[in-house]
Amino acid sequence: MAGSNFIVGLTGGIGSGKSAAAAFFGELGAAVVDTDVVAHELTAPGGAAMAAIHGAFGAVVIAENGALDRAAMRRLVFSDAAAKVRLESILHPLIRDESQLRCDRDLALGAPYAVLVVPLLVESGTYRNRVSRVAVVDCAESTQIARVMARNGLAREEILRIMATQATRAERLAAADDTLNNDGDISGLQARVTELHRKYLILAAKNPLTG
Ligand code: ADP
Repeated sequence: MAGSNFIVGLTGGIGSGKSAAAAFFGELGAAVVDTDVVAHELTAPGGAAMAAIHGAFGAVVIAENGALDRAAMRRLVFSDAAAKVRLESILHPLIRDESQLRCDRDLALGAPYAVLVVPLLVESGTYRNRVSRVAVVDCAESTQIARVMARNGLAREEILRIMATQATRAERLAAADDTLNNDGDISGLQARVTELHRKYLILAAKNPLTG
């Protein structure tokens, strides 16, 4: 099948079900690129961000295997707000470029459209301008909390603290072109993904890859 230029930005709060939704889109044949996965790869041993991170922060944030020492980095960022800005100024452009490259590659290889998973899409102006459409996985905050407690064993307070750094449910919904409600069971989410997939195939066909 001919590829397209159609990229759906998939977002949602922590525990809303982004990864679950992305997996269903992938099963249906969409290219799936997850910015969190890209970020992990960039900071893995030999990752493309590691030289710059070493240069900026020194060996204290490098683990023995050459990967980013996340705990050490968290400690540094906690005590030094400027360090967070510096880290992000290294990572964000690399994440953007690498995820764009992966979407472009998969589309050129014939994927009908791409789903780019961006947890903080609504919070970051740049991604909104880079995607054709914004899809938001939405559920009640109590559902998010229950799922993250079950998934990560985090305390309720810790989850609330993370949620407080993210856009509100209303802000995300206001930015959405499409919403996927995920308060019900997983088959409900799958059915909604299938429905949107059909719609995206039609929209993508209007944006064929040229050249
Ligand atoms: P996110 O990627 O947005 O953080 P996940 O897709 O990892 O969220 O979902 C959070 C957790 O909830 C995971 O353990 C996932 O398996 C589970 N989950 C997602 N959707 C449902 C659902 N509809 N019913 C039950 N569990 C779900």
